[in-house]
Amino acid sequence: MNTTYESKEDLTYEVKVICVNARRIYFVQKSNHHDVIYACNNCEFLVVGHFNGEFWTVVESNLTHTCPEPTVEERKKNMAYTPRDIAKFILEQVRADPEVTPKLLIQSAKKMPGEPDIQYHHAQRAREKAIEMAFGDPIVTFRLFPGWKTRMEEADCDNVVEVDSYQGRYERSFVAVGCHRRAFNKHVPLVNVDGTRCRYGGECNGPTSSSCS
Ligand SMILES: [Zn+2]
Repeated sequence: MNTTYESKEDLTYEVKVICVNARRIYFVQKSNHHDVIYACNNCEFLVVGHFNGEFWTVVESNLTHTCPEPTVEERKKNMAYTPRDIAKFILEQVRADPEVTPKLLIQSAKKMPGEPDIQYHHAQRAREKAIEMAFGDPIVTFRLFPGWKTRMEEADCDNVVEVDSYQGRYERSFVAVGCHRRAFNKHVPLVNVDGTRCRYGGECNGPTSSSCS
């Protein structure tokens, strides 16, 4: 086990993997913004984590369970992976193909410790999480539009950026690049073809084309 973690979820995931591999269970004895304690009800297993303002550090640990093995049902109930756990595991697969089906992700998640049976809606949620981890949250990205518009207009006073939204949701945007407008007005030959397509599964699908003149 590492000594430092970027987030409490990362530390929790590692504790979970250790217990899954040992076929044992743990419970969270304490959890707040500064401290977290994972313990076992039936033995001395213990992991104590502390947040120093930058990252989580393991300050005390006893990683060996000496307790008897619990039933399969008990383990299933207590050791289920969260969509975030699954997302971390399938991150590179989703980065390579954001449209990968939940069915395929269920197959991939079988390679996680304990070979978990993931439900379809959990795989779907895990894919959304992984897309967010790999490419950023589309809603948060949308909020960056006004700042981007300002910077585009500052960079070249002929740049035109318009963004339409409907009830707070992105509708469409129009971008005319300054050099294209000048070339058009002065009849200077300029060929430019560019375009991209958002390949997010879900709410942000669609093509984007830039202006040509
Ligand atoms: Zn134990």
